[in-house]
Amino acid sequence: MEDQTKPKLKSIFLPFLSTSHIIPLVDMARLFALHGVDVTIISTKYNSTIFQNSINLDASRGRSIRTHIIDFPAEKVGIPAGIEAFNVNTPKEMIPKIYMGLYILQPDIEKLFETLQPDFIVTDMFFPWSADVAKKLGIPRIMFHGASYLARSAAHSVEVYRPHLKAESDTDKFVIPDLPDELEMTRLQLPDWLRSPNQYAELMKVIKESEKKSFGSVFNSFYKLESEYYDHYKKVMGTKSWGLGPVSLWANQDDSDKAARGYARKEEGAKEEGWLKWLNSKPDGSVLYVSFGSMNKFPYSQLVEIAHALENSGHNFIWVVRKNEENEEGGVFLEEFEKKMKESGKGYLIWGWAPQLLILENHAIGGLVSHCGWNTVVESVNVGLPTVTWPLFAEHFFNEKLVVDVLKIGVPVGAKEWRNWNEFGSEVVKREDIGNAIRLMMEGGEEEVAMRKRVKELSVEAKKAIKVGGSSYNNMVELIQELRSIKLAKV
Ligand code: UDP
Repeated sequence: MEDQTKPKLKSIFLPFLSTSHIIPLVDMARLFALHGVDVTIISTKYNSTIFQNSINLDASRGRSIRTHIIDFPAEKVGIPAGIEAFNVNTPKEMIPKIYMGLYILQPDIEKLFETLQPDFIVTDMFFPWSADVAKKLGIPRIMFHGASYLARSAAHSVEVYRPHLKAESDTDKFVIPDLPDELEMTRLQLPDWLRSPNQYAELMKVIKESEKKSFGSVFNSFYKLESEYYDHYKKVMGTKSWGLGPVSLWANQDDSDKAARGYARKEEGAKEEGWLKWLNSKPDGSVLYVSFGSMNKFPYSQLVEIAHALENSGHNFIWVVRKNEENEEGGVFLEEFEKKMKESGKGYLIWGWAPQLLILENHAIGGLVSHCGWNTVVESVNVGLPTVTWPLFAEHFFNEKLVVDVLKIGVPVGAKEWRNWNEFGSEVVKREDIGNAIRLMMEGGEEEVAMRKRVKELSVEAKKAIKVGGSSYNNMVELIQELRSIKLAKV
């Protein structure tokens, strides 16, 4: 891939402190290294354990990539060592302290940008200040979005046109204006900061401004997945943007890469590999993969509904599940459920963290039940599998629109209410609703066949996008060329 006759570009990647922002941005950084760019990823010690195995693998393949560890100021902000990320295990009271730690770290990171002298930086959207620092240093800053083009476009339309204010009630549907499709939502399904502006809305404004000051933005997406929204987003924002996905498919071609991904999280959860033997004993396409990402925990009442729905569905399933420590009864229920499922052979529970890429590509998996986290949406498309959509927080409800209404590759469970990632909310989706959606996805007759055909076609497009001449491949080559011209112009 590398052209030895051209000067090597030096880059710094700065991921945010949450698992699902770290994973795709690190995959992206590894792709830049694959294309001959020198890459340094700045991370804290604990967060780096999520991806260090992948970096070691790439370095052993001769790629110019490394991690630069910075110490998280845990003591200064008064939190125990090792709590450096926003994920499912982050205690609520620690959240402002982690933000404070990041604030304290900012000058150190700025200094690193100065001393390491990169030709460009790629930083997470949650580091808007890095646009100004890049300007000061006279280098391009590229902003990484952890979401879809559709979600960012929809959020922009809601911010500008405020259509939800005209809805008669919280459950009345309104159309999101100025989008390529007529997408309907209710007020309750909108993130709180879009319903009525709060501190987070202020942050999102700052982020948007910083995007305008940046060289452009990059997404884990590919053209055929959301082409109209890709074009729309660039038009309304007036910024440059490149879809470089599916990054997981592109960066993790070997089983060793897939297994290394999120390794530290695996240590916290599924330690044994029994799932593989179990899956391999099941017929093709017969197993549901049920997972709600890296940040979610359900209350006991919801776990019970899911367990019954899965058992009653009659389908085999792998369920990535987390206990809610505040409720012992829930833990006991889940353990008994696991025992029962082991005996019947119908279900396999993975505690905490699952090797999602490896599981999804197993022949036995026939569909997902998922929260519509953007990375999982892309990963489901990669393997050509439909999804029962169960949006929870962040921009999940927008992603559901893409999956169900635009691409028609999913069946909604009927979730009605957005909530914060670290809250339970008031909605409990009933076992009948979960069961109905599963039935439509797994036994839906003609509609199911058509849905599976569509998602299989998209899977082919995903693979094409990252091959020589594909849309993401071309984007990557063009972007690197542009960055190289900027460096050469300076010289
Ligand atoms: N993931 C995984 N194992 C798990 C949970 C998540 O490998 O048990 C990975 C998954 O493959 C995806 C990311 O973590 O790449 C989760 O990102 P997503 O956007 O789907 O959801 P979020 O974690 O933001 O809710």
